[in-house]
Amino acid sequence: LLHSVMEGQKLKVVSHLAASISHEVRNPLTVSRGFLQLIDSDLNDREKKGYMKLAITELDRATEIINDYLTFAKPYPESVERIDIISEVKHSISVIQPLASMMNVSINAKIDLPSAYMHSEKRKFQQCLLNFSKNAIEAMSNGGTLTIQIARKDNELKISIQDTGVGMTKDQLSRIGEPFFTTKEKGTGLGMMVSHSIVKGMGGELMYESEPGIGTTVHLVFQVENVN
Ligand code: ADP
Ligand code: MG
Repeated sequence: LLHSVMEGQKLKVVSHLAASISHEVRNPLTVSRGFLQLIDSDLNDREKKGYMKLAITELDRATEIINDYLTFAKPYPESVERIDIISEVKHSISVIQPLASMMNVSINAKIDLPSAYMHSEKRKFQQCLLNFSKNAIEAMSNGGTLTIQIARKDNELKISIQDTGVGMTKDQLSRIGEPFFTTKEKGTGLGMMVSHSIVKGMGGELMYESEPGIGTTVHLVFQVENVN
């Protein structure tokens, strides 16, 4: 128990720190990348071009870390507000659509439900939807289908994000969400750590179904307000 309390504290400190530096760090990264590309286009020296490519790759990696962590984060904690989960899921799909198209992934959305409300920080919830969808798409390097489904039973709302990708082994499943656990060459292993903690912070539950070679489904279950 003590161990898990410490882990929780550490996570809080880390997320807070991250949120406070995100915006300040993202801009200079973008600017530097632009200038490097500009210089690169004028370079003829093979060796220098190689270094330039390395520098750009490293900047991209830094940006990726920020994206996994804080795409929607504000430098200051946002207050909890009443959000419509259905419209938030719709919004996340429009955000992820360009990446899906680029990766030959078609999105199958079954989300036509009446508004369902709960209290949460909008941006954090968007961040976690985005991280789950991004992983689903990244699991389908040869294209596939991303199915996003919402079902409601009384006050329980279940969001299911399903892919037809590589799937996970038992061992991978047991490690998902562990800080820095990644199987990707350019992964950060931060996306799920952050997203699991957001779901739990919202009082939600989270379940995975996954089979290697078949795909993965993650179910997120939240308590929403009564209808009326
Ligand atoms: P990253 O995406 O940077 O690797 P994440 O924390 O988002 O970090 O995910 C951690 C790991 O969990 C991934 O590297 C991958 O091995 C596994 N994973 C997560 N989602 C999926 C998925 N939908 N299909 C297959 N593996 C997944
Ligand atoms: Mg990820």
